[in-house]
Amino acid sequence: MGSLSELLFKNRQWAENNKKQDINFFSRLIPGQFPQYLWIGCCDSRVPAEMITGSQPGELLVHRNVANMVLDDDTSCLSVLQLAVEVLKVQHIIIVGHSHCGGVTAALNSDQYDGSLGSWLQNLKSIFQQHEKQFNLLSDEKERINLLCELNAVHQAVNVANTSIVRKAWKNNSPLVISSCIYNFGDGLLKKIGESISEPNNIPDQYQSLIQK
Ligand SMILES: [Zn+2]
Repeated sequence: MGSLSELLFKNRQWAENNKKQDINFFSRLIPGQFPQYLWIGCCDSRVPAEMITGSQPGELLVHRNVANMVLDDDTSCLSVLQLAVEVLKVQHIIIVGHSHCGGVTAALNSDQYDGSLGSWLQNLKSIFQQHEKQFNLLSDEKERINLLCELNAVHQAVNVANTSIVRKAWKNNSPLVISSCIYNFGDGLLKKIGESISEPNNIPDQYQSLIQK
């Protein structure tokens, strides 16, 4: 069973190893952060953003929640988006879903959860309902889960594109690009889904029907 002292021990080892390899590893982070990417991913413990992209501290601004969603009443996520776009001038926003997502599986199976988790998962169920015809063509559960993972990632990219934060940035000619990816546990690879969105009038055809006005 894990314990805090075990984590603290591992942390000391990690800090010592990094200092041994690079004496300035920590001191160079002190002046500020200049990340190039905003990563919006699932909080699943098997999808550690920095580790799977080989990134170092300071390279990714990360927001994670259950099933990588961007909702217009989620002030936590929108605060991170605003920080990324308006303060840190991040130019790449990536929505990252993943295979075997527990949130997606629960929504597809109509698992019942009370409280906040239950109402949060309703958002995934509504994506499923919007695309029910597509799901009816698939009998394999794995394929149905994969489809909802991908549709969810694309929906969330459109949600990002429709925020006033991103609209304002594009109006001010900020070269902001929004992409969707799926991380696959089977091979450890990130796969890009569909086209990136780089301006309000350039939302790819496959996204158009998803735009919520
Ligand atoms: Zn997940």
